[in-house]
Amino acid sequence: MDFALTEEQSAIFDMAYGFGQDAIAPHARTWEAQGTIPKELWPQVGELGFGGLYVSEESGGAGLGRLDATLVFEALSMACPSVAAFLSIHNMCARMIDSFASDDFKARVLPDVLTMQTVLSYCLTEPGSGSDAVALKTRAERTNEGYALNGTKAFISGGGYSDAYVCMVRTGDAGAGGVSTVYVEDGTEGLSFGALEDKMGWRSQPTAQVQFDNCNISADNLIGEEGKGFKYAMMGLDGGRLNIAACSLGAAQTALTSTLNYMGERKAFGQPIDQFQGLQWRLADMEIELQAARVFLRQAAWKLDQGAPDATKFCAMAKKFVTEAGSKVVDQCLQLHGGYGYLADYGIEKLVRDLRVHQILEGTNEIMRVIVARDMLKNR
Ligand SMILES: Cc1cc2nc3c(=O)[nH]c(=O)nc-3n(C[C@H](O)[C@H](O)[C@H](O)COP(=O)(O)OP(=O)(O)OC[C@H]3O[C@@H](n4cnc5c(N)ncnc54)[C@H](O)[C@@H]3O)c2cc1C
Repeated sequence: MDFALTEEQSAIFDMAYGFGQDAIAPHARTWEAQGTIPKELWPQVGELGFGGLYVSEESGGAGLGRLDATLVFEALSMACPSVAAFLSIHNMCARMIDSFASDDFKARVLPDVLTMQTVLSYCLTEPGSGSDAVALKTRAERTNEGYALNGTKAFISGGGYSDAYVCMVRTGDAGAGGVSTVYVEDGTEGLSFGALEDKMGWRSQPTAQVQFDNCNISADNLIGEEGKGFKYAMMGLDGGRLNIAACSLGAAQTALTSTLNYMGERKAFGQPIDQFQGLQWRLADMEIELQAARVFLRQAAWKLDQGAPDATKFCAMAKKFVTEAGSKVVDQCLQLHGGYGYLADYGIEKLVRDLRVHQILEGTNEIMRVIVARDMLKNR
């Protein structure tokens, strides 16, 4: 058993960290205020190979493992978890395409996806179905040329911003076997977007409904096989959950590091506040929590890389544990900054807001417990 990162993994982390600090961190608050991430950022991200982190090398991707990818998201979220998490969604879609689409489709779409000239959104949730995703109703009716889509996707990160949408739609009967995955390019007739959602955090990412009104797409835009879309969507989520957890971890680590420094400078009752033993214990508790979170996350990622039979359970456990640990830590960090923690200039309150949603999406943390408990009951 070896818990150390390899030299290559350390280099991946350092590269992502350096890029985040140079190209993202200085602008994170401005982008949050503007409610958008400049499109020009993405080709720079693509140049680093981060547009297809776990797209295979044969398809032109970086061919990294899941553990390697969590390092990228941990490091980038030290600059801004909202930007890092957005990249995770693009990568989840890229992986689905690489894993399941035909060679012709890959040849057509992947080159621009990898360079991030094409930014992708993942469309599963609907106004009436979130946790119970399989209840989705957006229909794709067969036409002579392909499919006519009708319905609405809700809460879509990048809705109205992305260049293409990977959508789970109903081509058959109720249930998972009636779901297929289709690719809808921006600008397709019948594709429109709702108003921008006004959110607590992740404010630099545009979020909107994606609407289909007799939106006709070619049959070539079907990804993989009809009726397998729900399976594809779920396979993407294991890795997505790891990435979201990594985003919580990196952001919480940044908050802890800056809190440690702040506590050495801030004085109360004639001494730096880091000299109060009660506060030192809180620092220690946060350190313990984040170190445990990191090990657990990397173990889950390793299991996914190995194709371990309990990988899905471990991804769910890690997502639940790490996102809750991350939120607890950033909230404590805000508290230890006193009133200054509540001011945007100190950078902590944004992290409290950004990390909160990690307990809700990629499957809520209640659903993570459902996955874990189901596995326990099955195997007792
Ligand atoms: C900022 C943001 C960005 C998002 N981006 C995307 C995106 O890009 N693409 C996408 O497809 N979706 C996206 N989502 C949607 C997200 O995945 C859903 O919000 C999430 O899955 C929960 O669904 P819901 O909101 O419908 O809640 P519901 O499913 O209605 O759940 C309500 C509550 O009931 C609980 N609950 C539900 N079922 C059970 C159960 N069986 N046992 C116990 N508790 C249960 C839930 O945990 C929750 O607490 C995004 C959401 C947000 C907020």
